[in-house]
Amino acid sequence: MDFSSKLLEQAVAEMSQLPGIGKRTALRLVLHLLKQPTSQTQQLAEALLDLKANIKLCKNCHNISDTEVCEICANPKRIKELVCVVEDIRDVMAIENTGQYRGLYHVLGGKISPMDGIGPSQLTIKSLVDKVKEGEVEEIIFALSSTLEGDTTNFYIFRQLEGINIKTSTIARGISVGDELEYADEVTLGRSITNRIPFESSLKS
Ligand SMILES: [Zn+2]
Repeated sequence: MDFSSKLLEQAVAEMSQLPGIGKRTALRLVLHLLKQPTSQTQQLAEALLDLKANIKLCKNCHNISDTEVCEICANPKRIKELVCVVEDIRDVMAIENTGQYRGLYHVLGGKISPMDGIGPSQLTIKSLVDKVKEGEVEEIIFALSSTLEGDTTNFYIFRQLEGINIKTSTIARGISVGDELEYADEVTLGRSITNRIPFESSLKS
């Protein structure tokens, strides 16, 4: 791509770093911003900087939050004995949208994936195990996507919890293997949480 302007080229280069944004799309977005009033670009830039500077991770569940403890963990109506293990905030949002779940979450921050160099220590697994050992949790629900990485992660955590008196279950999914949780429709996802099955029985199939 030949640019008549270095400034334009630089902006396009930065924009095209974003996932799913190729050079063409980046150019279209940059030209769009150029046509807008300066105030709008300023608001966009400020919102992003503000996000980076002030976002926190909930100290209990590791979900993205504006406060030390997220709104879900701070809600006294939520069932604290029930913890649903998910990969990231998109899964929390998907499950919250079903309106079928009243427990808390534990956000791992990813899945074990040796191919991508992600091992258990890069995830919040230790914090989950520690939380369980403290004894307030009665049931762990595994809700990672049923990919090889998701299954590996579930099984790793399950092994870490061996010997601890805790119920483990997995969401019973009407979703085909490999589908990501965030794309599951709300009814199916809601039903799969309500009709969750003991984790051990998912291993036998
Ligand atoms: Zn939280």
